[in-house]
Amino acid sequence: MADKLNLFEMASLQFEAGADLVKLDPMVSTILSEPQNEIIVNFPVQMDDGHYRLFKGYRIQHNNVNGPYKGGIRFNAAVNLSEVKALAAWMTWKSALMGIPFGGAKGGVTITPRDHSDAELCRVTRRFTHALGNNIGPEFDIPAPDMGTGPREMVWIMDTYMSTFNAHDRLATRRVVTGKSLLNGGSAGRDKATGQGLVYCLEAYGEKLGFSIDGMKFAVQGFGNVGSHTAMILQERGAKLVAVNDHTGSIGSDEGIDAPDLARHVLETGGVKGYKDAGEITKEAFFATNCELFVPAAMECTVSSETEHLLKAKYVLEGANGPTTLKAESSLRDRGVLVIPDILANSGGVTVSYFEWVQNKNSEVWDLERVDADLRKIMFRATNRVIEESASLNCEPRRAAMVIALARLDRVYKERGIFP
Ligand code: NAD
Repeated sequence: MADKLNLFEMASLQFEAGADLVKLDPMVSTILSEPQNEIIVNFPVQMDDGHYRLFKGYRIQHNNVNGPYKGGIRFNAAVNLSEVKALAAWMTWKSALMGIPFGGAKGGVTITPRDHSDAELCRVTRRFTHALGNNIGPEFDIPAPDMGTGPREMVWIMDTYMSTFNAHDRLATRRVVTGKSLLNGGSAGRDKATGQGLVYCLEAYGEKLGFSIDGMKFAVQGFGNVGSHTAMILQERGAKLVAVNDHTGSIGSDEGIDAPDLARHVLETGGVKGYKDAGEITKEAFFATNCELFVPAAMECTVSSETEHLLKAKYVLEGANGPTTLKAESSLRDRGVLVIPDILANSGGVTVSYFEWVQNKNSEVWDLERVDADLRKIMFRATNRVIEESASLNCEPRRAAMVIALARLDRVYKERGIFP
């Protein structure tokens, strides 16, 4: 089993493993094996010095049988077609697993955001939105934040898209995007939703397997939206952050690292490097950190043959999408390490995005208590189903999660058929 498949090959093998187990109808399997639409745009943007640069952007619409295409927009230098196709497919499985009436999509621009001024990023976001045109829409395809994007970019997308409608129709299109700022139609709790969902999922596992978050030592890779919120919520629950790695380096402290203070440092300096209350450690030492829980929350495939054998954690909670290679997952399983899969663990983001979309549609504003309570209910329900399915099929949680998602999609297609 190759360790470094391209990401869509990896996602396809995960799909086939789930499809075999669920005995997916060949017609459904054929439909789901590739995205429905692959949109690639090359769009010019004026840089601050006056010259024009061409950027490549993607929007991959994997499936919309259960509802509008849904998925984040990533700004990263490594964005490529295979990556976005895999991420889009994972969104379809995620929505189906959680029982959310959305399909799956993903988008991205090949760009290094930190190399650009705010004004350039604004023009890139707006020009990308303009290039996508009617390929997105509030009942058709709804972007959200992902790596390198956040509420600011979502508001720019919203504003650009809305501006293309006449004044009477404009406000109804605000829900073309989720993960917006609170002032511009966002939902309470969307900023921390993915981290919050990860913690609920872990809590549900703890209840079933008999472990407690309180007192748990953990390490996090990536201290952006997902990593930092997960760390702060785990700390509130009594867990201790002992090591962090991001694109600037690795830090560790057996005494514990204060997650909110580190989040402030990252906001000010752009990374964990130079944080005063923890020592600098090597990347190898980071992966070998003595802890019970490891949370990958950065890029894909970081838990690979090169790093997996170093891990001492008993639980890997996938905050990132696709952080564990197939080979590493198989070795971790052999060593008795529980890998809680991305399509379950990090689905708090899309779940609260759904809440935001519903609020916009109904002109409602929910408070944080309601958002958290509803998210908890959905995360617990999905996690318990995965645990039960995993036990009854005697398979790892990822395959069980795929079985639940694919069985649902199978039933939907069987009832509808394909026209003509
Ligand atoms: P982000 O841009 O806020 O943060 C990304 C983090 O990854 C940063 O800390 C960055 O330093 C780190 N990073 C980047 N390259 C790295 C490298 N080579 N080595 C180590 N660290 C590196 O992104 P995010 O929104 O937190 O997304 C992180 C992951 O979570 C992605 O896989 C994303 O698809 C997934 N995810 C995000 C959401 C969401 O709501 N934002 C929801 C579900 C899943």
